[in-house]
Amino acid sequence: MMTALDSPPLGLVLADIVHSHRPRSEAGSVPAGIPHLSSPPFDRFGIAVATTSGDVFSAGDADLPFSIQSISKVFTLAMALSADDPGRLWSRVLREPSGTSFNSLVQLEVEHGIPRNPFINSGALVVTDHLMERFPDAAGHVLQFLRVQAGQHSGQGPFIDEVAAGNELANSSRNLALAHFLKNFGNLHRSAEAVVENYVRQCSIMMSCVEMAKAGLFLARGGHGANGPVVSRSEAKRIGSIMLTCGMYDAAGEFAYRVGLPGKSGVGGGILVIVPGECAICVWSPRLDSKGNSLAGSAALADLSDRTGWSVF
Ligand code: GLU
Repeated sequence: MMTALDSPPLGLVLADIVHSHRPRSEAGSVPAGIPHLSSPPFDRFGIAVATTSGDVFSAGDADLPFSIQSISKVFTLAMALSADDPGRLWSRVLREPSGTSFNSLVQLEVEHGIPRNPFINSGALVVTDHLMERFPDAAGHVLQFLRVQAGQHSGQGPFIDEVAAGNELANSSRNLALAHFLKNFGNLHRSAEAVVENYVRQCSIMMSCVEMAKAGLFLARGGHGANGPVVSRSEAKRIGSIMLTCGMYDAAGEFAYRVGLPGKSGVGGGILVIVPGECAICVWSPRLDSKGNSLAGSAALADLSDRTGWSVF
């Protein structure tokens, strides 16, 4: 573990991480089928760390808003768990790595409409449906939470890119298919269209690395957010556990091996990582590896955890 005596200040470490990992070529890819995600230049790279002692350190493009995509699933899950008896949700979605692609229809069919975990698309649709029972505008509820946690001092704060959401909604055949499957198995209570619309809008939230690190900090603080408890200490532990096992698409094992921390990735190139008791980290760089995780972001987090000793192991 890094100590105050033998380590450079965190701000300098982050500046060096940006220097080392900012992409210099167009390696990697952007997701097909979500046109607005191809717009950020390949060399965008930002990183921010929000600590449990209240400090925020950042470097690179850490104040530029990016599309959080599937990172939103962490917050929707937290909101759903805090809104209702967690047992009701856990009877509808499992907590196992899926081993198949995040939007697989086959697995859902074989497993009778019970998604493997809340971070694959079918599981996230169930979580959104669950949250909509209490908050019909589930995406707006998640956004409001993020705005409060992130504070408003860095620009305009998190917002929904409605144009991007509209574009994605017009290309949501697969997510609609998943929702109809769930409905057919009795595991979706609202209309497939309404749930997918909410889901796509929550994925289209734009926020910066600084805002994301601050918003995720409650998970490093035993469930305690900016203005009080968000989820219980036990639920915070469990969300972290699901991030570790299911948060990085089909590369959760590789990420745990390289970084040793719970993380959640989105195809917008962002990754949120939790260091329990210490800090929340957000890194963003838009180009993805073959598993859908930020290429430069994953490498930077492995480097950062090696340099600082931050790990749950
Ligand atoms: N909105 C994207 C989808 O549902 C999210 C993908 C992701 O970040 O995993 O396909």
